[in-house]
Amino acid sequence: MLRKKLIAGNWKMNKTPADGAALVAELVATVGKQTDVDVVVCPPFTALDAVAKVLDGSTVKLGAQNLHPEASGAFTGEVSAPMLRALFTTHAIIGHSERRSLFGETDAFINQKVLAALKNQLKPILCVGESLAEREAGTTLKVVQTQLEAGLQGVSKEQAAALVVAYEPVWAIGTGKVATTDQAQEVHAFIRGLLVKLFAEPVAQRVRILYGGSMKPANAPELLAQKDIDGGLIGGASLEARSFVELIRAAAAIK
Ligand code: PEP
Repeated sequence: MLRKKLIAGNWKMNKTPADGAALVAELVATVGKQTDVDVVVCPPFTALDAVAKVLDGSTVKLGAQNLHPEASGAFTGEVSAPMLRALFTTHAIIGHSERRSLFGETDAFINQKVLAALKNQLKPILCVGESLAEREAGTTLKVVQTQLEAGLQGVSKEQAAALVVAYEPVWAIGTGKVATTDQAQEVHAFIRGLLVKLFAEPVAQRVRILYGGSMKPANAPELLAQKDIDGGLIGGASLEARSFVELIRAAAAIK
């Protein structure tokens, strides 16, 4: 297989350091040595340190849910990429739809974050996706193209190899409504085509494109079997070891 599957858990604003450490202790005990699938957990900032300590020596990687583009300075309440690196973070979710809609993040700001992540050797998980109104208006591909191209401005071919893209239809996040495999694969293939135009074929073929939006053990096998679906960004089902492990196993079962 050209691209190893990647299963990333987005815990959002859930779990204290103790709760997070307990959850990853279960993950480490069950899937902490496997190498068939890349696994990343993204706790809230406050739990990163406790979770990093439990993950040490396992194959499970640590991600942040956000970062600020500047390295330091007068940005009250923010956390920078070098600070995250110092906590052994390797990935960062950037441009999640909740950041876009609830915190007013623009494509230009998201682009600065992507560049800051790459500059600091953090792998960005850049989220793109349309709202229900945009899907119903037939503008899904246009919306995704704008978000992707704007988010990746100034990213070099060399840097793009570290990139992960997550296609997350906003109407499917936390709603229990999952995109059909055809709907998801269509957008994933479209994103792959855009990546080919931006970075040429060899790099574009290496970039993992995750699906996110109510992915659960029951619907994951079919989604993960699609040609351009290289894993999942998982919200709700990542908050419990059992369902998250089932998703990892579902990804491992795809040959
Ligand atoms: C997400 O927030 O990235 C997500 C996909 O959430 P859920 O799995 O709960 O829909």
